[in-house]
Amino acid sequence: MGDEVAEEGGSGEHAGDGHGEPDKSARTTEEKPGPSRAEVSNYEIVEHWFNLAAGRLGLPDDVAAVLRSSYREVQVQVPVRLSDGKIHVFSGYRVQHNGARGPYKGGIRFHPEVDLDEVRALAELMTWKTAVVNIPYGGAKGGVNCDPSKLERAELQSIARSFMDKIEKVLGPQRDIPAPDVGTNAQVMAWLMDEYGKLHGHTPACVTGKPIALEGSFGREAATGRGVVQVFTEAAPELDIDPSRATFVVQGFGNVGSWAARLMQDMGARMVGVADANGAIAGGDGIDADKLAEHVREGGSVADFDGGAEEIDPEDLVALECDVFIPAALGGMIHADNADRMRCRMMVEGANSPTTPKADAILTDRGVTIVPDVLANAGGVVVSYFEWVQNLQHFRWSEDEVNEKLGEIMRRAYREVSDRAHENGTPMRPAAYELGIERVVEAASTRGYI
Ligand code: NAD
Repeated sequence: MGDEVAEEGGSGEHAGDGHGEPDKSARTTEEKPGPSRAEVSNYEIVEHWFNLAAGRLGLPDDVAAVLRSSYREVQVQVPVRLSDGKIHVFSGYRVQHNGARGPYKGGIRFHPEVDLDEVRALAELMTWKTAVVNIPYGGAKGGVNCDPSKLERAELQSIARSFMDKIEKVLGPQRDIPAPDVGTNAQVMAWLMDEYGKLHGHTPACVTGKPIALEGSFGREAATGRGVVQVFTEAAPELDIDPSRATFVVQGFGNVGSWAARLMQDMGARMVGVADANGAIAGGDGIDADKLAEHVREGGSVADFDGGAEEIDPEDLVALECDVFIPAALGGMIHADNADRMRCRMMVEGANSPTTPKADAILTDRGVTIVPDVLANAGGVVVSYFEWVQNLQHFRWSEDEVNEKLGEIMRRAYREVSDRAHENGTPMRPAAYELGIERVVEAASTRGYI
């Protein structure tokens, strides 16, 4: 948080339900520690995979150095007078990693642990992600180190507007286009768009993930979760898993986790465990994802959901037996100390960098198939791309059209990554990084940058 509120600590809880407005009712929930996270940083995780792929591709050191570093890193002061009457100074960041393939693109995170190292890592991940799904963007990320669960709606709005005032010069529909991430949602995007508009005139394409009433795209809110489910259904037959009878566990029940769970359930799959920042529950007969989403939307948390499930130690979530485990919370949550307890057959990474390299090696050795973040959670940025295209044309597609086009892109990307993994005899993550890096290298060298 900002200087004055930093001592209040933070549970890492999200802004609201991920489906509407930031919800201050979360403050009233008794805070319990979530599962432990690794000491390895998001940046170390991304660098590990980049270096491995750069080595396999035989990239010269100087070229790798260009691709590894950010184009621009902006750190700004975000001073806001909160309802206690004092000015609190938050730190805001926007990192533009690589723009060889198009305008910079990436979410904005509101979370107490946001810092430059994390934003830099997430920006780089976006560069490889947009290249893996082959949409015409570069990679960026932003964030403010505030804790939305402890802020009033008006305070959040002031932070969003103040942040936009400080970074608008490096943004724009042809330059860099933010979107929602942890702790932000469609409402925050509306405030960002409005603030940008005051300075530049009405410009809906300057931000994606906006509310439908403000030229947001149908299907954007569910898009990341939908993409997770689409790649799962592609991957499942390779492991003889029938998606309509699969069991799954979700870690994190915000935008990505709740939509992935609901869409898995729509297919007939059964959620046997779920956690958020406040606790975890398990239920072999199945936990109703729609009812849980409604409960969370009304201000409840996973642990106090009265749906026939039992509360478990959040540390034990990973040990639940299931066909597929879906991390959908923060980075580094699957690590060397808990990976060997996992009893899933497949992991589909809804979150960014949820798995440390050591945990990845443990799971791979044990034969767990991992569909990596740069592929699995790209559904959000794909529909953000659709939103941007619609905004630039002042036109709107139907939800069916959006979902169908999303499915085409996700399935094609899955096949390309999976085929390359088979050809190389590697898991999917190294194959995905190689594919993404290769595409960025081609664009950068064609432009004459490298
Ligand atoms: P969100 O703020 O809507 O939800 C985050 C969820 O994680 C909340 O339920 C929160 O309680 C939970 N959580 C936090 N700490 C936890 C802990 N220690 N244990 C268990 N649960 C915990 O965020 P989101 O938009 O759903 O993003 C989740 C992840 O997906 C992030 O890694 C994000 O970068 C990634 N992602 C999001 C999008 C998107 O479109 N929103 C797109 C791609 C990737």
